[in-house]
Amino acid sequence: MLRIEDIYKSFGEFMAVDGAELTVGKGELVAVIGPNGAGKTTLFNLISGQLKPDRGKVIFMDEDITNLPPYQICKKGIARSFQIVNIFHRLTVFENVQVAVLSQQRRSNRFFHPAQNIAVEETNRILENVGLLDNAWHIAGSLSHGDRRILEIAIALGNDPMLLVLDEPTAGMSPEETSATMSLVKRLADERGLTLLFCEHDMDVVFSIAQSIMVMHQGRTLIQGKPEDVRRNEEVVQAYLGGE
Ligand code: ADP
Ligand code: MG
Repeated sequence: MLRIEDIYKSFGEFMAVDGAELTVGKGELVAVIGPNGAGKTTLFNLISGQLKPDRGKVIFMDEDITNLPPYQICKKGIARSFQIVNIFHRLTVFENVQVAVLSQQRRSNRFFHPAQNIAVEETNRILENVGLLDNAWHIAGSLSHGDRRILEIAIALGNDPMLLVLDEPTAGMSPEETSATMSLVKRLADERGLTLLFCEHDMDVVFSIAQSIMVMHQGRTLIQGKPEDVRRNEEVVQAYLGGE
């Protein structure tokens, strides 16, 4: 579904992404791991179009999307959340998701349908899916940190993506919240037939849910493979897992 070929991004003299490679199969749950500063967020920004690579390619569904702007990449079916919470704090939970659903429906040109009603149903369905229906009429800014992060995922789902890209969805969560959130994400992926690409610091979580793991170090891909192969790889263990 997604293939990143030999991609580079520098900030001034500094190579944040230095020839990384990544493959994501349809329906797969793929994790990117690596120490802080490895280039994970930059790589995700290259996928979603927030940044343009210096060279290299992003291929999605056999199409070169490397130089498309973010809104067109979103339209192709890639939705993402950010490492830092990115919601409308003064809108309600419901409105935050509805904005995404409405913009998605507008894109699919359903001019002759009562878009508002469809959006209400779909928004409610998503909120129920993620367990935020009881908070629908709360102001988003009043949610707990954990619920805000879940709301971000709900907003991403509002875009009806094929590929969901989550940048540290559990950052700042307690271990209990982390495992609950990742089970939720896994369930959503199963139920909606989503492909999932995420990065996450909790190795127990990564190794329990990812079907493929890419290890990034200093902007490069050290290895991508099945969890058991990654765990066995000597270089990875030394560069990263050993330091845990
Ligand atoms: P990770 O998400 O793996 O922690 P990042 O992709 O955020 O890593 O960052 C990789 C490196 O690139 C870091 O050293 C960071 O300081 C640097 N970097 C990221 N974004 C910028 C930017 N906009 N300008 C300059 N340096 C940046
Ligand atoms: Mg990051």
